Amino acid sequence: MARKVVKVVHGMPASDGAGVKLNRVMGQPGLPDLDPFLLLDEFRSDKGSDYVAGFPDHPHRGFETVTYMLAGRMRHGDHMGNVGLLRPGSVQWMTAGRGIVHSEMPEQEDGLLWGFQLWVNLPAKDKMTAPRYQDIDPEKIPNVSAKNGVGIRVIAGKIGEVEGPVQGVATEPLYLDIMLPGTTEYGVRVPSGHAAFVYVFEGEARIGGTKLPRGTLGVLSQGDEIVDLVATDEGARLILVAGKPLKEPVAKYGPFVMNTPQQIKDAIADYQAGRF
Ligand code: MN
Repeated sequence: MARKVVKVVHGMPASDGAGVKLNRVMGQPGLPDLDPFLLLDEFRSDKGSDYVAGFPDHPHRGFETVTYMLAGRMRHGDHMGNVGLLRPGSVQWMTAGRGIVHSEMPEQEDGLLWGFQLWVNLPAKDKMTAPRYQDIDPEKIPNVSAKNGVGIRVIAGKIGEVEGPVQGVATEPLYLDIMLPGTTEYGVRVPSGHAAFVYVFEGEARIGGTKLPRGTLGVLSQGDEIVDLVATDEGARLILVAGKPLKEPVAKYGPFVMNTPQQIKDAIADYQAGRF
């Protein structure tokens, strides 16, 4: 049996940071979360005024933020002195753990800035772990060529024997960027217990009988291993993301994601007292 689409979600226009316009696909009323995933934003604009303000210094605790750049450049810096430049095709998998204060600022004033930010929850036992970065250059992401011109960038997890560069993440994620030329099909193997979704960001795809045009997310059924992707005539490009559900209580408040309300209070107090 193949996985089916059990829910189609349209993103919601939102503004975050110092006023960056984005499409919030997860982390909004239409799809509050999908354990272990907490949020998915697509930012995509060629108007500098939509993004130049960026995301100045802000904190995170208790989860991971994953930025995948498709176009444009974004500079990252944190309170411990870590800096990095995200370029087209690069990925930053940041484990905030017990706390970081960082900024994410576009390094351009016009031209296309396009990418995704995904929030991945941490298990209770890892929420107060030391912060960790996996900054992955574009050329470190393997590109698998399948038949009929289908191409897959393997960011995390495995396609056959090809393993993505992101390592040591508790939720054992699969994060693929899949390019399907017009009318092609491709079957992906996803661990049966993982929660999974696809988000189509170019063209239009179909899974089972469900059409997913650009800008839509399809939540996939659980329990089966295969996802059969079909591109319509125009082709499609999508991310397929899967992870092991944590099945733990979630207490969320802005950039803090913990297990209990008391831990949220502690996070706010620690941040305000400069203890991050
Ligand atoms: Mn951030």
